[in-house]
Amino acid sequence: MRRTLLELASRISGPLFAALLCGSLSSAAFAVEPQKPYSQMTPRPMWVEKVKDGLYVVRGPLGTCMGPCVPGQPLDGALHEPGDVAVRVTPEGLIIVDTKFARDVPDLLKIIKTISPLPIKYVLNSHYHGDHVGGNGELIKYGAQLVVNEELREAYDRSKRDGDSPPVTFGAYGAIYLGGVKVESHHFRSGHTRGDSFAYFPDLKVVHTGDVVIEGMPFIDYRDGGSAVGWVEEIYDVLKLDFDWAIPGHGRLLTKDEVRQYVKNVEIMNERMKDLVRRKVPVEQAGKMLKLDDLGWDKSPSTGTFMANSIPGYYAEMAAVLAAEQKLGAR
Ligand SMILES: [Zn+2]
Repeated sequence: MRRTLLELASRISGPLFAALLCGSLSSAAFAVEPQKPYSQMTPRPMWVEKVKDGLYVVRGPLGTCMGPCVPGQPLDGALHEPGDVAVRVTPEGLIIVDTKFARDVPDLLKIIKTISPLPIKYVLNSHYHGDHVGGNGELIKYGAQLVVNEELREAYDRSKRDGDSPPVTFGAYGAIYLGGVKVESHHFRSGHTRGDSFAYFPDLKVVHTGDVVIEGMPFIDYRDGGSAVGWVEEIYDVLKLDFDWAIPGHGRLLTKDEVRQYVKNVEIMNERMKDLVRRKVPVEQAGKMLKLDDLGWDKSPSTGTFMANSIPGYYAEMAAVLAAEQKLGAR
């Protein structure tokens, strides 16, 4: 029956209508709920939280592994979820930030339908990682317009992802105006990735930070031009925006003070890695010796990814910083 209805809807009004109809058939499972830290949560399906009137964040699904669990691979004990999706409601349609994995799109469309029946007009992306943009292609098929900054588009071209290279791009700054609402896009520099992008909702004083601020430790993507030094500078750039809430790349909403503390923690971590380099600790041991527990990052969802991917690049970057400081000091 549902299939027949969907096929009919597709013939009448296109795939977006079909998607909305699908959502309307099974939307009662989602509700607006208060924020909780990962430490107080258990695995659960996708859900929505209200940020302010007209702005929502879609969280989850929350599970014990980020992607499909690999048989035989030990779990890291942390809860994982694809990227937080921001949904800005305007009288003329929706602007969303990030799209989770492609497999999450059916649930994402259902849950967005519980927020508003209006169509998704624009999609912004925080960066190119698959847990944030995997659903782009599907949403474009449903009629949404993807707009990203130039750096980010180049990342899509490098990764050769289908459907992700948008025909329209922003520079370092851009804005979308829809239904009397303005949503800004800021690209300051490279930190998490080369094309990091921040969606800013000026009327509501909220920023979506992507993975530059998360409920967990930074994962620095050196393969895509990430940088720990850039990361710190980037957060100070973000802090210049007038906001009182940040929607992180993963996790619960954070206050501006929590973002200030986050960058301080990154600076502390950088100093510690620099110290390991100064003491000539071999790179193979540097990850194990990097003190993270007092920062709350020893068992965070991103700790495993950081340890598996970021250590050689991080070590090399901090060695270069140290060498530059010593050169300056010798003058
Ligand atoms: Zn990421």
